[in-house]
Amino acid sequence: GTSKWRYSRPSEWHRSYPIARGNRQSPIDIVSAKAVYDPNLMPLTISYESCTSLNISNNGHSVMVEFEDSDNKTVISGGPFENPFRLKQFHFHWGAKHSQGSEHTIDGKPFPCELHLVHWNARKYATFGEAAAAPDGLAVVGLKVKKKKYIYQISIVFQGTKAQFRSFNPKCLLPLSLDYWTYLGSLTTPPLNESVTWIVLKEPISISEKQLEKFRMLLFTSEEDQRIQMVNNFRPPQPLKGRVVRASFNA
Ligand SMILES: [Zn+2]
Repeated sequence: GTSKWRYSRPSEWHRSYPIARGNRQSPIDIVSAKAVYDPNLMPLTISYESCTSLNISNNGHSVMVEFEDSDNKTVISGGPFENPFRLKQFHFHWGAKHSQGSEHTIDGKPFPCELHLVHWNARKYATFGEAAAAPDGLAVVGLKVKKKKYIYQISIVFQGTKAQFRSFNPKCLLPLSLDYWTYLGSLTTPPLNESVTWIVLKEPISISEKQLEKFRMLLFTSEEDQRIQMVNNFRPPQPLKGRVVRASFNA
């Protein structure tokens, strides 16, 4: 079905979702000089050894790849986490042009694109939905994306379209260094639940101009609707409200 919220007016989301003005909303601008190095933060372990992808779809807000998540084959652990978190899906945010597109900004600077790897705490919660409503239910790894690497063809132009997409290992999307910033935040799309521990990797990954052009050819709309290009599907940075951003590395 067609969703009620639109990226054209993120400042209006609070009318339907009052939590939009809550105390731990995402994304944020990460001011690198104000991040606090925490030597007690463990290194992040990303165990994507299996190719458990299921499908790729246009959910009307982004392009999303979903994973089989009935066991702990594809998880992240370490970092600020006590439990392993299972990969549920990944998706992208991007701009109409290169000067914008990411959700998190670093020292006020946006990137053309941002990748979100969404995981849930299956040790503590029975379902993804239950975890998504809990303050410690989700872990999202955010990767800033700059230009370069070609990832895949996309055949899911219209909203609501889905294609089989198997045997893809998201390990190939990761940068060399897993140095990160971490803070307590929220989903960046309605319902904006404050359930996310964010991990924002310091090192950006690369994406090709051609790939970004493919993203920009996707549509927010379904086949019978008037076509609206899927671009600028990002929420701008939200107030920090006293939160501290911790760094796993000493700058
Ligand atoms: Zn996202």
